Amino acid sequence: MIVPFHDINNSDISYDQYHFWLMRDVEMMNYALEIAKQGAKFGEIPVGAVVVHEGRILGEGYNCPITTQDPTAHAEIVAVRRACESLNNYRLPKGCTLYVTLEPCTMCFGALIHARVSRVVFGAFEPKAGAVVSQLTLPNQAFYNHSLDIQGGLLAGKSSALLSGFFKQRRQEKRAAKAQA
Ligand SMILES: [Zn+2]
Repeated sequence: MIVPFHDINNSDISYDQYHFWLMRDVEMMNYALEIAKQGAKFGEIPVGAVVVHEGRILGEGYNCPITTQDPTAHAEIVAVRRACESLNNYRLPKGCTLYVTLEPCTMCFGALIHARVSRVVFGAFEPKAGAVVSQLTLPNQAFYNHSLDIQGGLLAGKSSALLSGFFKQRRQEKRAAKAQA
């Protein structure tokens, strides 16, 4: 089920918006944003994810397909893989929430279903390839044998700023390299 979306485009959350999100949601999304920044240091598009169960972090990860030479190494997959490894189980226990700074793609949404994530909270919307609301609405498909709750837009402004800052810097670096050649 897709819970109504609340698009927060400002970095600061107003009092009203706190009523929509749990304090833990805000805390965990801020943490996921910090994780995302680690990937940017290695030239990876900054996206971070955290898997939380009953207040405990089971796994976390940042987008890293280039450095690991693994096209599946999106933040969600890395975080879920680590969480499953820490539990010695191929599925997550009931009640797990995955926080990710960007709307999941088709691959990641599929992985979250396979992992039996109960709730997904994402940050920025991904208009080009988002599979939750932007391009596809996969959570509404009836053929899955697992359903999860999804909420989006938490700290969307912060996540978008992180991404656009990264791409801006990359363009500048490319331009500088061209000028030198
Ligand atoms: Zn993905």
